[in-house]
Amino acid sequence: MNSAEIITIGDELLIGQTVDTNSAWISMQLSMRGIRVNRITSISDRRDEIISALDEALRRVSLVLVTGGLGPTSDDITKETLAEYFGSQLVMNEEVLAEVTERITRRNLEMNENNRRQALVPECCRVLLNRAGTAPGMLFEKNSKKVISMPGVPSEMKYIMQEHVLPMVTGMAGDTTIIHRNIMTYGTFEAKLAERLEEFERELPAVIKLAYLPSHGVIKLRLTGTGGNARQLGLMMDGQIRKLYTIIPDVIYGEGEITLEEKVGSLLLNKNLTVSTAESCTGGKIASLITSVPGSSAWFKGSVVAYDNSIKTGMLGVDPEIIRKQGAVSEETAAAMASGVRRLTGTDFAVAVTGIAGPTGGTPEKPVGTVWIAIASGRGIITEKQRFADDRLINISRSAHSALNLLRKQIISY
Ligand code: ATP
Ligand code: MG
Repeated sequence: MNSAEIITIGDELLIGQTVDTNSAWISMQLSMRGIRVNRITSISDRRDEIISALDEALRRVSLVLVTGGLGPTSDDITKETLAEYFGSQLVMNEEVLAEVTERITRRNLEMNENNRRQALVPECCRVLLNRAGTAPGMLFEKNSKKVISMPGVPSEMKYIMQEHVLPMVTGMAGDTTIIHRNIMTYGTFEAKLAERLEEFERELPAVIKLAYLPSHGVIKLRLTGTGGNARQLGLMMDGQIRKLYTIIPDVIYGEGEITLEEKVGSLLLNKNLTVSTAESCTGGKIASLITSVPGSSAWFKGSVVAYDNSIKTGMLGVDPEIIRKQGAVSEETAAAMASGVRRLTGTDFAVAVTGIAGPTGGTPEKPVGTVWIAIASGRGIITEKQRFADDRLINISRSAHSALNLLRKQIISY
């Protein structure tokens, strides 16, 4: 058994009120164990929808995971429908009843009819006890096919998956090995990267696939290897990753799930260096990304959010003449902001960003999305101009990430 399907039940998923994070989580867990998810279906809380989704999924695969619709209220009809589907009756399960009673009375609440209904389960199923909530999971088996029903609440679904389902399905995929390896890149765009990797992709062994996963300018390259022998496959993947380093060395910044701010942190920590930031259009975003890294106090000193020109001149010591002649969004202002905050904080590096985030404020010479970044260090100041798009939040995010990437390169060559 190496393929499965997921069915998520709930009107809230279909009206856009709840994002279906359950199937993403389940898919990741299954795929790590070599079980491929062929299809994810989201359906309404309706008897006919549930029955037809089960029918169709069971025609294609022998493992179907279902979440949602198990609550104590009468609008949750999944349990009744599953009982009917598997030709079984609802019976009181004493073990579940004891669990539910314990959970309810522990919170000083009275058991009511709805609570008692949670302990009713189809006679033919195997109960998967839920110690994270009151609705139990249920396992149905028919013609050596399995249907597993779990509550929709993500923490309860995860409990049942981890406690009951994952131990059961681990090893089901037989000898199939699946290895995922991520290479993190920054400083290019998807179409360009795909062009540079055209030959690499063409020469990839059939058992290794390449995927591009862009987010905030970071492009994650995911190599997925599928094959028999784990050691052999691992060596093959290592070889392909070495090859990537020779083709795109300028844009790779790390491997695994590492972020730019984590990479910057580990580089600074290794070299025992510190950084501070002076931020105009990013409004502290760089500092916020940096401080999201645990332990950043060892290498980050602080930030000045110099949004108004009076803060640029008054606190950072930017010469008002520079702003008057070159403008607040200019190479000279960015450089002066960087050296100003470095002087103020006494750090080894200082990052400054000034730009026009938009949607208004652009001019023909300096359109929305124009951003100047400066990095000051004991070796002087370097600057970089970027031209992003029209979306304010995207510009802020891209500016912060570009600044971190420029800083990263400076630390490496320091
Ligand atoms: P409950 O006992 O809470 O009623 P349930 O099994 O009936 O559990 P639902 O009513 O479908 O589950 O959903 C309960 C909660 O879980 C809701 O707040 C919903 O937003 C969330 N939820 C349901 N399905 C999903 C999903 N696929 N992904 C993420 N969250 C979900
Ligand atoms: Mg519910």
